[in-house]
Amino acid sequence: MLLLRTSSSSDAAVNTPQPEGETMTSPAPVPTRKEIQITGIRRHVAECVTSVKDGPCGARSNSWDSALHLDVWIRAHADEYEHKKFVKRTEEPVNVYTKPTQGRQ
Ligand SMILES: [Zn+2]
Repeated sequence: MLLLRTSSSSDAAVNTPQPEGETMTSPAPVPTRKEIQITGIRRHVAECVTSVKDGPCGARSNSWDSALHLDVWIRAHADEYEHKKFVKRTEEPVNVYTKPTQGRQ
């Protein structure tokens, strides 16, 4: 019956501010909604933030679909440059869809 569940896939934890359930009774406060849909796999990347002369080093690793490679890259970079401060990031490609609310089915 409900054909509006097109946005969030269940396998990935998305920041969906919309409450769960009771979507039938509460009308949307805005005429259109932007749906953010993950379009690819999560990637892991490491970045060196060690302070050097001109600011942070800023060296970035490649991005992998596994976090295991990050430690390898960090160790190699730390060995080569004697840098000690890093951050690990995850990146997900997403698309934004503007969904009109008129087509309630
Ligand atoms: Zn560095």
